[in-house]
Amino acid sequence: MGARASHYQNLTDLPQGKSRDIYIELQKAILSHSLLPGVKLSEDEVGELFGASRTIVRTALQALAHSQLVTIEKNRGAFIAQPSVKEAQEVFEARELIEPRVAGMAAKIITPKDIEILQNHIKAEHDAIAAGDKGEALSLSGFFHVIIADIAEHDVFSKIVRSLISRSSLIIALYWKRLDTTCESHSHHALLDAFAENDVQAAEKIMKSHIVDLHSGLDLKSRSQSKQSLATILNK
Ligand SMILES: [Zn+2]
Repeated sequence: MGARASHYQNLTDLPQGKSRDIYIELQKAILSHSLLPGVKLSEDEVGELFGASRTIVRTALQALAHSQLVTIEKNRGAFIAQPSVKEAQEVFEARELIEPRVAGMAAKIITPKDIEILQNHIKAEHDAIAAGDKGEALSLSGFFHVIIADIAEHDVFSKIVRSLISRSSLIIALYWKRLDTTCESHSHHALLDAFAENDVQAAEKIMKSHIVDLHSGLDLKSRSQSKQSLATILNK
C-alpha cells in the first residue's frame, strides 16, 4: 500500500529540486492547454523564466519527454508533443482493449482501503474542478485509471496503462470537444460501486463504456496553434 501511495501524483519518477518545479509547472500548462502542442520550449527562455541553469532546465525537459508530453528533436530543441489523429485513435483503441480487463482484475482483489483511496481521489478531482484548475483536474482524472491498474497488481498492464494515460492526457487536452469534465464523475462513481461489490463483470463493462465514451468525446480533426509567448502563458 505504501509503495502505491508514493506515485499517485505523477506518472513517471520526477526529477528533484528546481527541475521538479519546472516539470510540474510546465506539465500543468500543457495539460490545462495553456501551452499548445508544437510550441517550442527553448532552454534559454525557460531557464530565464525560472531563474535556472540550462542543466536544470534540460533535466526537466527530459523528464517531460519521458512522460511523452514533450518531444526533443536533435539540433532543434524541445517542443510540446503533438499527438497525431492516428496516434490518438490507437491510444484509445488500446485503452478500450486493456483497461476493462484491468478493472475486472482490480474488482476481484480490491480492499476497503483501496476503495477509500479512490474515493479521496475523486474528491480531489472535484476540488480541482471547483477551483477552476483544469490541468490539475485532467491529470487527476487520468491518474484515477493508473491507481486502478496498480490495484490490479499486474506490473506489465500497469506500465502500459501509465504510458497510455500520460499520452491520453495530452490527447484529451488537444482534441476534447465537450465542455463537461473529462472523466465524467458518473463513470468513476459507478466503477467504485462495482468495486465495492467485487463485481468483476460490472467493472469490466463500466470501464469499457467509459473509455468508448471518452473516445467519442474527442474531435479528431480540429487543432489550434498558440501565438502567445512562453512568458505570457506562464505568467512570468
Ligand atoms: Zn475516467
